[in-house]
Amino acid sequence: MNLILLGPPGAGKGTQAKKLVVSTSMPQISTGDMLRAGVAAGTDLGKQAKEHMDAGRLVPDEVVIGLVEERLAQADCKEGFMLDGFPRTVHQAEILEKMLDGMGRQIDNVLLLDVDDEELVKRITGRRTCGKCGAIYHLVFSPPPSDDTCSCGSIGLVQRADDNEVTVRERLTAYHDQTSPLIDFYGNRGVLRKVSGTGKKADEVFEQSKKVLGLG
Ligand code: AMP
Repeated sequence: MNLILLGPPGAGKGTQAKKLVVSTSMPQISTGDMLRAGVAAGTDLGKQAKEHMDAGRLVPDEVVIGLVEERLAQADCKEGFMLDGFPRTVHQAEILEKMLDGMGRQIDNVLLLDVDDEELVKRITGRRTCGKCGAIYHLVFSPPPSDDTCSCGSIGLVQRADDNEVTVRERLTAYHDQTSPLIDFYGNRGVLRKVSGTGKKADEVFEQSKKVLGLG
């Protein structure tokens, strides 16, 4: 299955992707994770991306599209993939469509995770991530097993640089203005599957997601 995870920041795309990786072994392709790795490593690409990410704006297409194209060409994507955070504009979706067309492939499903804005702000500002294994926690809704320690044993959970309230509101504006038109774009192609995550725990969203994706 070639799957896109669509939804506002904090809707749980990364959390659901990690659960789907375990149950389907499809690779998760997160443009946000790839860009953050570039920023941390100080690559040219990371340098170009950083100021946009810190401001909560989208990174220019020329930085992101090449990354995705290279990743999709890798062997582990042959049997299917899960795109998390891409496409984020209709233009990116059109480019992806052409890219896949050239490979004789297409998007089979788009999972839309929908959550109210005010809940998103609470979710994102309390989010903490394990720098070692990538596990995602929330200080109140999904706390780590013990203070500042991941279940993998790593100590020192981190907050993403763009997970503060001011930047979150910018990211939500970017989502509503630039990304939400993808709901109609994929709706018109008959591949959109919607799950509401408002007020729900990750496991409940996961069960519903598997159902709408026909994964049992
Ligand atoms: P995410 O981890 O998906 O929330 O992405 C974090 C940040 O990375 C976003 O706020 C953007 O600045 C940037 N980013 C991630 N994916 C894309 C994309 N497909 N197009 C443009 N910018 C992106």
